[in-house]
Formats: sequence, structure tokens, C-alpha cells
Amino acid sequence: MSLTIKIDRVALDTIVQQNHPKRIVFNAPDGLLRETRAIAQELESSYDLQAIVIADPTYGSCDTVDGDAQRLGADVAFHIGHNVTVKKFGKITYSIDAVDDVSFATVTQKASDLLKDGGIKRAGLATFAQHVPELSRVSEILERNEISAVIGKGMGQLHDGQIFGCEFYPAFNIRDKVDVMLLLGQSMFHALGLCLSTGKPTYMLDPYLNEVINVSSVAEERLKKAVLSVYKAREAYRFGVIIGLKEGQIMTDQSLKLKKELESFGKVVQLIALREITADRINAMTDIEAFVQTGCPRISVDGYNFGKPVLSVPQTDALLRLLSGNEVSMEMFERKHWL
Ligand code: SF4
Repeated sequence: MSLTIKIDRVALDTIVQQNHPKRIVFNAPDGLLRETRAIAQELESSYDLQAIVIADPTYGSCDTVDGDAQRLGADVAFHIGHNVTVKKFGKITYSIDAVDDVSFATVTQKASDLLKDGGIKRAGLATFAQHVPELSRVSEILERNEISAVIGKGMGQLHDGQIFGCEFYPAFNIRDKVDVMLLLGQSMFHALGLCLSTGKPTYMLDPYLNEVINVSSVAEERLKKAVLSVYKAREAYRFGVIIGLKEGQIMTDQSLKLKKELESFGKVVQLIALREITADRINAMTDIEAFVQTGCPRISVDGYNFGKPVLSVPQTDALLRLLSGNEVSMEMFERKHWL
């Protein structure tokens, strides 16, 4: 089955017609880059404007390029596909939705049968940007199968039932009302985040392969590795605290606070800033034995091999507790937000 994601052209054209920009800039996740480039060319043909596509990696709504777009002389920038409640970022950036209209009917029926066989009566629903409109339809199917379906209220940038890879408010807030969590969509990344943040058994409903996948054992593996990194970091003397340089990631105050806290345990700490946290950049700083980072927490959780500890904020909190003489909690990721 081919992907069925569509970018909201009506919103795009409306903004162009209202603002009459001379130069526009786009950025989009890789899965939408091809369509975004096609739209950029179409807009150049239809309107009197120049269109530039920034093709750097784009992973989340933290990845807006308002500053870059202004430096490129743009009047308007479009950030594609993260479907947040906020419609404008920075000075010139508009968030443009992209929706996937693939049906979840078949896979939801399959999940209902599986849950019923397991005696499960209450399921929490969550999904990422592209499938938010499907939540109510999935809920109806579950209810018809006598499974109570709960969708958490949206908060901040998140719509009802929506999660990011690092923000889980709607799902976290209903975790005591459900037996399991269901993630709508083909995304192990989001399913693992959902499982770790809610602490609930979690199933991924993949509408493309028509599969219902229990992700709990993979989440447990990730958790064990994350805990191991915390114990390794305890032995380090020289630390780097990395501030993410992406527009939605810059957390200077929190990074300074972590630096001070690590220093209070006798660690030597340097502040570092990076746009992309990669093994190459980490390994270029050979004298630093361990890093903590306030950029994207998923870099520390998703199995990247840096060769030395690179801790997310929840892991850093666990490290600070460890240095104070407490054990590392296996529930360290059970939080609404990982930053
Ligand atoms: S910080 Fe990471 S997980 Fe959070 S929105 Fe950005 S890319 Fe996604």
C-alpha cells in the first residue's frame, strides 16, 4: 500500500495570496520533501515569487527555520507536516498541516479482537500529526467492540490525542484510566515514546501492513540501555552539556542549571552547542568522557551508538539522583515531557 499523505495546499495558497511574498522558504521532514519540492516549483510557476527548499534534516516542530529563512531574504516560510495547534512561529513561519487519510478500520478491528481475547476493556488512544483526524473513527470501532476508548485532551502545541517524540501530555494524563495504550500509525519511534512515558503496555496499529505490534519488550530494551548509560556516566569526570541549536530546542537556562548541578558533585563541565548531535561531533571532543544534552531527548534513547554516554534530561535527573546516593528509577521516562 502506498503512502497517502497530503499537504494542505489550500492553506498554503491562501497564505501566499494574502501576503504576496517575493521569496518563500520551505522545510519539511524527509517523507514529505519530494512533495514539498514539487509544490515549491508549482508556486514559482503560479505566482511571481522565488521558492527555496531547505533540505536539512527536519524531525519535529522544534525544527523550524525562521531565522534561516530571513537570512535567505524570504518574506514567508512554511514549516510542513507537524500539524500543531500553533499556526505561526517566529516572525515569518507558518505551520502547514499534512494529513494521511489511510483507513484504520481493518487494523482497529484486529486490535479489538486481540484486546478482547486478552480481557482488556479500556484503551488509551494516541497518535502523531498525520493521523489525528482518525482518532475519533478508531474510538468508535473500539466502542462498538465494547472496549472503552479514551483520548486525552490536547495541551500546548498538541491536539487532543496527539504526541511528539518528546511530549506526551494527552497520553500521560489518561494513563491511570486505561489498561493499555494504542498508537495509531506506522511509527516505532512514537510507539516506544508512548510506552516509556506512560509505563503502559503499548500496541502499535500499523494501517499499512495491517499489523498490531506489542512494543513493550523493545521499550524495555531501550530503557535498560538508557539506565546503563546513566551508570557509566557516574564514573565520568569531564562532562559536556550540549545545548541544541535548533530553533525550538535552545534551552540555555536549563543547560546552565544542569552544569551547576554536575559541578556541585565535583565534575568538570563545559557548555557545548550543536545543531545535529552525531557520533562524529561527539568523538571530536576526545577529552570529554560523558555528555548530557538538552536538545532532542530521543537522540539519547533511540539506540544511537556514541561510544560514550550522551544523556537526555530524564537520564541526567537520574544521574544527579544517583550521585546523591539514590538508585536509578526504572520509571525515569514516565513523564509528560522529556525536556
Ligand atoms: S525535540 Fe526531538 S522528539 Fe521533540 S519534537 Fe524535536 S525532534 Fe521531535
